[in-house]
Amino acid sequence: HVKLQLEGAEGDRGGAEAEEEAVGYGSKDELLCVTRSVLKKMKRQVLVGDFVEVSSVDWTLGHGVVKSVLPRQSIFQTPAVANVEIALVMFALTDPPIEANQVSRFLVAAEGAGLDSGVLVVLNKTDLVSREETKAWVDRLGSWGYRAIPVSASGGEGVGAVCDALEGKLGVVVGPSGVGKSSLINSINASAGGEAGGLGEGEGALLDVGEVSARTGRGKHTTRNISLIRLSNGGFLADTPGFNQPHLVGVASRELPGCFPEIGRRLEDGRCEFKNCSHVHEPGCVVRGDWERYPMYVDLYHQARDLEAKALRTG
Ligand code: GDP
Ligand code: ZN
Repeated sequence: HVKLQLEGAEGDRGGAEAEEEAVGYGSKDELLCVTRSVLKKMKRQVLVGDFVEVSSVDWTLGHGVVKSVLPRQSIFQTPAVANVEIALVMFALTDPPIEANQVSRFLVAAEGAGLDSGVLVVLNKTDLVSREETKAWVDRLGSWGYRAIPVSASGGEGVGAVCDALEGKLGVVVGPSGVGKSSLINSINASAGGEAGGLGEGEGALLDVGEVSARTGRGKHTTRNISLIRLSNGGFLADTPGFNQPHLVGVASRELPGCFPEIGRRLEDGRCEFKNCSHVHEPGCVVRGDWERYPMYVDLYHQARDLEAKALRTG
């Protein structure tokens, strides 16, 4: 039995022939696998990023059987990737204009995923704004507790720094549409496959279910493919961005304080009078105060409480 990280997405094969399902294709240290049908009966889907136990390995043919899916550290919804460790939350400095409330919503939603290495901000389109404007946003995000990397995804500036931040980790890119997510992913993919390192020999990192279908001669009812781009520093990046416009942030009121680094810092320095302080109205609260995103926290807290109350009423 070996433990490996799958780099292919599951295909939707449908029909009676779907007893065994191809979930990945590989060469060298990669295997084309089928999932044991018992896994499917348990509705244990194999996701990109999963660590799996593989049995019946034939290294000559490069075949194996996925026996079980190991416990997941995290699960990201859009894109659906398991064991993500870092979210790159991306915005354009202009075009579309950057807006503090929206930035904050994406940050809180990303924090809600509870990733090991948390959240890194990528500020794109530095070529369209002044240095001062870029610096002002880097500083502002810094005061919120975030590191922000300025980049020009189309020009290539700063892309290396993003790759460095992914060292040894599995990352995903999220952000609103038009900010340059695809451009960044393409740029990273090009440098991973090209002479900048990556897989060497210009070998593409992308494995898709379409390829598997071609090799196995199975049907091509391929749904959406998510692949991982392998970086030379041991990092991985999902090639599919997420754009879950979080008008509803989707974080429970109880979890909300944990989604603001500013609150974390305040609770390190002091303690609220009440153990289960909501940091909204209680006396003796060390969180409530004059910091930029506090009104945003209160807003999101009330929204989350309203939703929770509604959910209770409708059962
Ligand atoms: P996505 O919707 O977030 O995936 O954004 P895209 O990657 O499709 O980019 C949206 C638009 O922004 C495209 O027209 C890109 O050419 C443009 N774009 C992306 N990166 C940059 C950049 O660094 N500078 C400039 N000026 N334009 C960029
Ligand atoms: Zn408090």
